Amino acid sequence: MSDRKLQAVSLPANWAPESWRERPALQMPTYPDSDALDTALTELRSLPPLVTSWEIFALKKQLAEAQEGKRFLLQGGDCAESFSDCESGLISNRLKVLLQMSLVLVHGLRLPVVRVGRFAGQYAKPRSTDTETRDGVTLPSYRGDLVNQPEFTAQARIPDPRRMIKAHARSAMTMNFVRALIDGGFADLHHPEYWNLSWVGYSPLAAEYQDMVRSIGDAVRFMETLSGSEVHNLNRIDFYTSHEALLLPYEAALTREVPRQWGWFNLSTHYPWIGMRTAAIDGAHVEYLRGVRNPIAIKIGPSVSADQLLRLVDVLNPEDEPGRLTFIHRMGAAHIAEKLPPLLEAMRRDGRRVLWVCDPMHGNTESTANGFKTRRFDNVRSEVEHSFDLHAAAGTRLGGVHLELTGEDVTECTGGARELTDADLERAYRSTVDPRLNYEQSLEIAMSIVRKQNQ
Ligand code: PEP
Ligand code: MN
Repeated sequence: MSDRKLQAVSLPANWAPESWRERPALQMPTYPDSDALDTALTELRSLPPLVTSWEIFALKKQLAEAQEGKRFLLQGGDCAESFSDCESGLISNRLKVLLQMSLVLVHGLRLPVVRVGRFAGQYAKPRSTDTETRDGVTLPSYRGDLVNQPEFTAQARIPDPRRMIKAHARSAMTMNFVRALIDGGFADLHHPEYWNLSWVGYSPLAAEYQDMVRSIGDAVRFMETLSGSEVHNLNRIDFYTSHEALLLPYEAALTREVPRQWGWFNLSTHYPWIGMRTAAIDGAHVEYLRGVRNPIAIKIGPSVSADQLLRLVDVLNPEDEPGRLTFIHRMGAAHIAEKLPPLLEAMRRDGRRVLWVCDPMHGNTESTANGFKTRRFDNVRSEVEHSFDLHAAAGTRLGGVHLELTGEDVTECTGGARELTDADLERAYRSTVDPRLNYEQSLEIAMSIVRKQNQ
């Protein structure tokens, strides 16, 4: 597919980076000081972007290939980054997990993997309520480090527009470190030992993974002996970024026109998505994203009807541009068999292009008796496995997964290779928002995808 084909779409009618302001905008904080807000947005508009339109088009092309079954998308990272997470060890550990998972997928699926991090900008969180009450005290909810602070004090919860400037800087630092690691050879297939996590001791999964690494290493060396040159320059591995486009004043301030490209680009990330709570067809978030040239994704929950889905396609991808639109379904293991098939059937009959991705995290959140928000590994794996079957039955294709995970040794989701129980959760629960898969649980999901596909 030529790049020209990817770019040959019309400009959206009646759209501007700020046209979302005419629509109902959910999940927006109320900034107490509008002058401070204006000052921050003016500064943000003048700061350099975090990504380029070339990278955005390169990703769109890869997503178009994923739509055709020629690639598989691995999208993962924290539920929310925090400013204090902008630290070298945390960033490289997350990258290590994603690289190990992608190696498992490439090897097992025999398909190139599109790697997208939920990072370098995942600082805003939608909340189910605007306020939070503890011991009779009610304060505004924590909306992510982009907006306010998690501590339960009145001062910490005041939305502060200067946090947008700090988020831009932290995103740039994260991006810079990821790019430098990749350019420097961190992802080189000749050195998968770079991706070992120091804290992982003996683990049955690690042993299975090491066997796979050895056989890939043998194959690479064999090919190099035959051809007399390096077959794989994985230095040029691609890593893209994504985050939820939730705080629209921030997103709009980083939405730019690019010389010699027509149209507008969200240059704060390669691949913005709209969350389930802000996916209303006539809402501000859909209005904002319809006008940017990035590939975009939208979370699809159990209450979305087939009719709403088709209307989202009309608005977000009216010209059926390849690679443009991703639907991330997040139904929950208990509901997917009932809720997903009518949507798949409607899209198959409609015939327009979409990339289907499964988020097996957000429909499977529950609270334990000891007060932790958790996810059962069996439900997560079951939703992914079910998705493959339901797509196969509907004649559609599951083109990727969207996961919340970390390279840290946490106990936030139960189950998995080490059979974590509810009692284990208090040992190393670090997330301020949703529970993430740990290293072994992440690797196990990658392996179960491979097993499922090769059945
Ligand atoms: C998320 O991805 O962290 C999230 C809040 O998801 P959803 O919009 O699907 O609930
Ligand atoms: Mn989440």
